[in-house]
Amino acid sequence: CEYRLKERYKMNNDLKRSIILDNYQFPSNRKIPNDDSYIKINTNNESCIDNIDLYVKLENDIIKDINFEGEACAISISTTSIMTKLLIGKSIKEALNIIRNYQNMIQEKDYDANILKEAIVYNETYKQPSRIKCATLTWNGMEKLLKDKSLN
Ligand code: ZN
Repeated sequence: CEYRLKERYKMNNDLKRSIILDNYQFPSNRKIPNDDSYIKINTNNESCIDNIDLYVKLENDIIKDINFEGEACAISISTTSIMTKLLIGKSIKEALNIIRNYQNMIQEKDYDANILKEAIVYNETYKQPSRIKCATLTWNGMEKLLKDKSLN
């Protein structure tokens, strides 16, 4: 049942904090790519300092690479770092499924913790409503970009 699933994946807060801090201080894939085959999308959140450009390289329907750069808070930078690690190498369909599960988790709906891996550190974001935008900004941007691309 969903309750048990949530319990099983409950991490202690120290571990959560260290994963978030690690991805904030040493984010993965935080750079501007030096070739123009990447699709760029800006995401920004007026209720925080978050302003992040996402750079996505698609080959057919596979996400070959994701880079990002910009100024943002610890939640926003760390979740974007984790998102890039989860989505690189996935098909658009797989990526949209992961994104949907993440959004469900943030909104306290049913989700599959197995496919979210490290991203479950944000499973109690609902307790801080002001951080929900920070936690979902780049995920929503990525979803929009992938949906636009899969319609083409
Ligand atoms: Zn923020």
